[in-house]
Amino acid sequence: MRLVLLGAPGSGKGTQGRVLAERFEVPLLSTGEMLRAQVAAGTELGEKVGPALDRGALVPDDLVLSVVADALVKAEAAGGCVLDGFPRTVPQAQKLDRAETRPDAVVHLGLDDGVALQRLARRDDGRADDASRAVIMHRLQVFHEQTSPLLEYYGKQGLLVTVDASAEPEEVTEAIMAALAERDLPVS
Ligand code: ADP
Repeated sequence: MRLVLLGAPGSGKGTQGRVLAERFEVPLLSTGEMLRAQVAAGTELGEKVGPALDRGALVPDDLVLSVVADALVKAEAAGGCVLDGFPRTVPQAQKLDRAETRPDAVVHLGLDDGVALQRLARRDDGRADDASRAVIMHRLQVFHEQTSPLLEYYGKQGLLVTVDASAEPEEVTEAIMAALAERDLPVS
């Protein structure tokens, strides 16, 4: 099973990603986590991407690909993966298609900006990019401008499933599982 989670910051990609990866027994690949780990480890890549993370801007496609490519190959051997935070641009999605790792389904965690803002303001897991309202606003804007075109990209391919992400996490998970079952994807 190869699943992509698509949603604004605060929509619950990380939370749902962990649960879905466990249910499908595949690895969870979170590009945000991978990039933050590079910064924390003080690698050369971490130094390059740190400023973009702090501003809430996207990291250039080639740098994201350099961190995700190996993990994607390994995931294939593990029977697929749940992708949290990748792809985030149309060129990234095209790359994923070309690598013959086209997703089985793309789950859009739909959420109003107002609710996303409230959640991010409350979230306190020590992420620098959650600390300032200006950065949070920028991440939402980046989602609308650079990532939301993927809704059309995957919609046209018939892969998009949209769920209401404002519900409780367990309800969101069940809505995702129901939507996948409806598409005849193996959910049990
Ligand atoms: P959120 O969705 O809450 O903003 P993430 O952990 O998914 O959190 O992403 C945090 C940051 O990591 C993004 O603001 C961006 O700077 C960077 N990032 C993560 N994934 C990508 C990606 N696929 N392409 C470019 N930048 C990315």
